[in-house]
Amino acid sequence: MQDFSFIPNNEYILLTPGPLSTSKRVRAAMLKDLCTWDKDYNFIVQDIRQRLLSISNLSQDYTTILMQGSGSFAVESVITTALGNGYKLLILINGEYGRRIEQIAKISGIPHISKSVEECEIITPQLIREALRDNTITHVVLVHCETTTGILNPLESLCKEIKQHNKILIIDAMSSFGGIPIEIENLGIDFLISSANKCIQGAPGFGFIIAKKERMEQLKGNAKSLSLDMYAQWECMENHAGKWRFTSPTHVVMAFREALLELESEGGIEIRHKRYAQMQKVLSERMEDIGYQCYIDKKYHSPIITTFCYPDSNFFSFHDMYEYLKCRHFVIYPGKLSQADTFRIGNIGDIYLSDIERLLGLIQAYNQGVQVQSKS
Ligand SMILES: *Cc1c(COP(=O)(O)O)cnc(C)c1O
Repeated sequence: MQDFSFIPNNEYILLTPGPLSTSKRVRAAMLKDLCTWDKDYNFIVQDIRQRLLSISNLSQDYTTILMQGSGSFAVESVITTALGNGYKLLILINGEYGRRIEQIAKISGIPHISKSVEECEIITPQLIREALRDNTITHVVLVHCETTTGILNPLESLCKEIKQHNKILIIDAMSSFGGIPIEIENLGIDFLISSANKCIQGAPGFGFIIAKKERMEQLKGNAKSLSLDMYAQWECMENHAGKWRFTSPTHVVMAFREALLELESEGGIEIRHKRYAQMQKVLSERMEDIGYQCYIDKKYHSPIITTFCYPDSNFFSFHDMYEYLKCRHFVIYPGKLSQADTFRIGNIGDIYLSDIERLLGLIQAYNQGVQVQSKS
């Protein structure tokens, strides 16, 4: 008999950027089997598509596409469907997720150029202006909140610059949509990408795209992949009232609808943003008091996730602290930087200031324990 005793009975509080802690209400919505092509289920899909527009205050000039897979599948479906022959993509990079887009472009043979800045720096309008001297560029893509570090790129000034040059604008808003207000229409965003298991606080299993309808209409036959053909998926959802082309993650879709209702009952995106921002502020300030410096300049922090540097002590072990916290039901997140030893703490999901306070109490107690040990 195989031993499955390692499977946790405990409920963890996930302080990660997704999958994240969801509410009982969202999880309970999954306790139902539905048919992927049945009209009752397809009605729910249409309801979700409409709600995504209404929480973003979007007119019917915009439309939505749901795409099976994790967030990267949705990014790949946009990049490989939106760019047909004769197009060229500018990729702005200040972290791992920007690099992933570059990898997608490389693998699928999409003409592109990349412009990178350090991971602790934001993308600037000047960088874009210089890059757009290449007038063969037709599309620009950037990551709103780079989850690698938690840095927040200044969407407003960047979109303005890109739109002044009349480029088609793609935003990876994976870890920000639903948790940070984004004026999609005012900013002129053509394609915005996010997924079920981030700030909407649903379960993992699909991503979604909010797109300008007139852009979508031009994309027939562009795709370089069958399963990830964003146009074909859209056409099917439009023409068959919410039908996905292939098997859809029915349980996850039910959870997502519940999560959208939950977001509405919380008071909408701005209220959720306040909750996240308050937790991030308390977390970053108190961690510095305890002795963990933030990696990113505070003026660039997003309210989503924070990167902390390892302290200068020889006695610090991330693994040890991770296990200490995990035994006490909190799961934190390793770092992803090559230049610095860091770890991350996310604060999105069904978590509240009292959870962050308890975490900080534990980290303080842990630190005192380590100090006592190191002196003896
Ligand atoms: C989570 C995330 C993605 C997608 O990652 P998956 O692991 O495929 O879900 C893409 N971009 C950003 C900025 C993200 O935070």
